[in-house]
Amino acid sequence: MSESGKHIAILGAGESGVGSAILAQSIGFDVWVSDKGEIKEKYKKELNKYKIDWEEKQHTESKILNAQIIVKSPGIPDNVPIIQKAKESGIEIVSEIEFAGRYTKAFIIGITGSNGKTTTTMWTYHMLKNAGLNVGLAGNVGYSFARQVALEDFDYYVIELSSFQLDGMYTFRCNIAMLLNITPDHLDRYDNKFENYIASKFRITQNQTDEDLLIISADDPVLNQNENLNKGKARKLQFSTEKELKKGAWLQKEKLMINTDNNPFDMIYTKLALDGKHNAANGMAAGIAADVLRISKDNIRESLITFSGVEHRLEPFISVRGVEFINDSKATNINSTWYALESMRKNVVWIAGGVDKGNDYSELDQLVAKKVKAIVCFGTDNTKIIEHFKDKVPQLIETYSMEEAVKQAFLLGRKGDVVLLSPACASFDLFDNYEDRGNQFKMCVREL
Ligand code: ADP
Repeated sequence: MSESGKHIAILGAGESGVGSAILAQSIGFDVWVSDKGEIKEKYKKELNKYKIDWEEKQHTESKILNAQIIVKSPGIPDNVPIIQKAKESGIEIVSEIEFAGRYTKAFIIGITGSNGKTTTTMWTYHMLKNAGLNVGLAGNVGYSFARQVALEDFDYYVIELSSFQLDGMYTFRCNIAMLLNITPDHLDRYDNKFENYIASKFRITQNQTDEDLLIISADDPVLNQNENLNKGKARKLQFSTEKELKKGAWLQKEKLMINTDNNPFDMIYTKLALDGKHNAANGMAAGIAADVLRISKDNIRESLITFSGVEHRLEPFISVRGVEFINDSKATNINSTWYALESMRKNVVWIAGGVDKGNDYSELDQLVAKKVKAIVCFGTDNTKIIEHFKDKVPQLIETYSMEEAVKQAFLLGRKGDVVLLSPACASFDLFDNYEDRGNQFKMCVREL
């Protein structure tokens, strides 16, 4: 398809913006890239290499409002002035995935949920790739979808879709969609209304037809409300770690079962590559997709056993004198920490804290009472955690840096215990991001 002569403005020059620029240019658009912040050196070089025009630290309105279409980075909220003006001028504003989706005929597997997106995306990709399919991986990890549509020729894509990506999607169709779970998150971007956030997640089904498939949790209370379950036209298969189903995927005694077409698959549940019920759910969702794509049972089994997990997600790190250290830095909300604690089989010294996004810690009370022998909190403001847990655990220590937190946790640990970093909070007080937090944790553990 040629878009020769049309103007496109790309706002935000990270991986998705630069990928969109490369794709747009390859199909004939007249491209303008604009970033209000500083553009990374490697992306500037790339834009120059492709002879794409760009600006940084400003948005030149005349150039942006001259476009017929704008690709907006998911990080830019709708209420910034340039987006408002573009809307008033009637310019089409889309996300990178929506844009790139218009220029590929590949089979699309899209994955969303409040937690587990990256893990399930990587696990599904691992399965398809192991089975020899010509598959690309996109979303939050690695190269952008747009870049791959421009430069690769994949038959399948497995794509992680955040609600911000989904908000900018209108015609994009998932041949297979996965909706893993919904718990309140990012509500500041949704007028503090949970229903708006739910609606955003369900956009993943909006263009599905009856030839498509929606893989959806049978355990999540919100997803199971009838008005939600009946959304969309796709065939549905559910997965559950709580109840036995006949179709989809579920746990039956010691077995993980998958049945999509009356040719059931089973494997011993404890052989799954990753611990925790949440990961059983993630593996099931990936397994359903693979089974529907007619990947052999042996291949599915092998991929469920061999997946190596994703860094910073319940990542077993090392043991120091019999104390095991686990890095779950990506746990930025209560729900993910709940699953981390739930999966622990040893006494836990729990490192928690950071930027609280309105947490209700009482959701963790039962698990903490059962498993946690000490809490080490760290962050610029620990008051809420201390107030909530001070009478509920044998020991609670306040620290102000990762180094101190790790040292204190190690002192509190005994042989056979586990030190779990699962903050339940965002990382922006002391760190650049959750990766930085996880890496610092590992560095401090290595130095013990
Ligand atoms: P996302 O991409 O949605 O943020 P990740 O796979 O990066 O999800 O995992 C984020 C955090 O949530 C990690 O702490 C991980 O252990 C936890 N997690 C993974 N899968 C699930 C799930 N299905 N339900 C709840 N928490 C999960």
